[in-house]
Amino acid sequence: MKFPLHLAEDGRVVHDWVRQSSIKTSDMCLERWRRELWDDSPEIVKDAAALGTVCHSVAEYVLEADEATDESEITELFNIFWAKMIPKINVWNSYDQESATVEGLSRILSWYNEVYEELVPKKVEWNFNKLFFEDDERIVYLSGTVDLVEEDRIWDWKFPKRDYSRDRWQYDRWDVQSMAYCWATGIPNFSYAVMHSKGVGRMDFVRDESHTDWVRAKVLRLCQLLESDSRAMALGDNGWWCSEKWCDYFAQCKGATIGGT
Ligand code: SF4
Repeated sequence: MKFPLHLAEDGRVVHDWVRQSSIKTSDMCLERWRRELWDDSPEIVKDAAALGTVCHSVAEYVLEADEATDESEITELFNIFWAKMIPKINVWNSYDQESATVEGLSRILSWYNEVYEELVPKKVEWNFNKLFFEDDERIVYLSGTVDLVEEDRIWDWKFPKRDYSRDRWQYDRWDVQSMAYCWATGIPNFSYAVMHSKGVGRMDFVRDESHTDWVRAKVLRLCQLLESDSRAMALGDNGWWCSEKWCDYFAQCKGATIGGT
């Protein structure tokens, strides 16, 4: 079992579990958030996530390379990284091997042809783990990885089937990732490049201290919930994420009830 909390020498509770993804999970289902925080069973590697990881690896390699590249090199890199990833995949539920290869290559070539040219990298795959806030009872760190940091803009790559950028208004209102990463870097300009099956979408946001304050307020409530030691979390089943395909706990949770079958 993992322990997401520990005590500092002065007796305050230290929270080092906070990532933008964990906050997003809590927005969807608190029970799933609780389970993920304490669960140390081996990760189940799913095809869509694995394909995204490979595309990120190719982008990272190209952005860190000293020399210019071309489509044939991108194709070769993708094929090498993807071949290494295939044996690690436990669940194929979005693609089969052939369709994943075609779709993945098309996504990273879209990134190369429509996004890469305009980039001026400063830091690639930049990891951070910073003190987010503290008070008399707790010390809270926020960690994450930024795909690309430029002088005055940060970027995140997405390689989904669907074009997220059509949901821009929702991201504008409550996207935690852009708020957290702008705070971490001190750069207010954040862009998503969304490489989907029909092309490339882009969403730009400007985040400031008011957005950080809101994320802190959300995280503080989650910290207080964890400290309360409650195991009775709300079951958030009202969305796509509550399904065999997307929730690793479905079989023991909603899937174990008549309502889940
Ligand atoms: S099965 Fe649904 S309700 Fe249960 S943990 Fe997963 S997302 Fe939450």
